[in-house]
Amino acid sequence: RSLEQVLADGIRDIPDYPQQGVVFKDITPLLADHTGFGQVVEALAAAGKDDDGNPVVDKVVGIEARGFILAAPVALALGAGFVPVRKKGKLPAATYEESYALEYGEATIEVHQDAFAPGDRVLVIDDVLATGGTVEACLRLIRRCGAEVAGTAVLIELSFLPGRKRLEGEQVSALLTV
Ligand code: 5GP
Repeated sequence: RSLEQVLADGIRDIPDYPQQGVVFKDITPLLADHTGFGQVVEALAAAGKDDDGNPVVDKVVGIEARGFILAAPVALALGAGFVPVRKKGKLPAATYEESYALEYGEATIEVHQDAFAPGDRVLVIDDVLATGGTVEACLRLIRRCGAEVAGTAVLIELSFLPGRKRLEGEQVSALLTV
């Protein structure tokens, strides 16, 4: 199957989740599809390779929670370390935090202060790019740690939301744009 077919088969729309009027992209069928999941991991990992197909990143960041599922196998595929970026209050050691605005209220994400070596090249992975607030805050966190952002790769980009505009100047790749 082509990657396009794998994504079409494995991502379903759930209307009115988590709230009325929102159509949620559910990726659980894709995760349950062994060959499809493998193809998606390979495709995401391409964002961490040069033109000759050699890995060029030291760490892969996964954003809680679905980002973890995708980023961990991508890290292994690239021979890189995995770093979790989590919602506030979940990481046990000393952290840096960054907050960003949600439609209603605010969210805060954290990373361990010692998660990166100085100058580490970092690939960020998440499932969905919506408004871009989460990824934007994540990039601030990585730079605050003295590491370098190599790029961001997501499974799905919601193009009717201003995520890409918000991340102008950043390297962002999406396997599927809807
Ligand atoms: P943003 O900060 O770009 O507005 O929101 C992105 C975050 O919300 C991502 O971490 C993503 O997991 C989650 N998210 C937003 N909309 C959806 C959706 O339709 N499906 C899934 N799976 N996640 C979503």
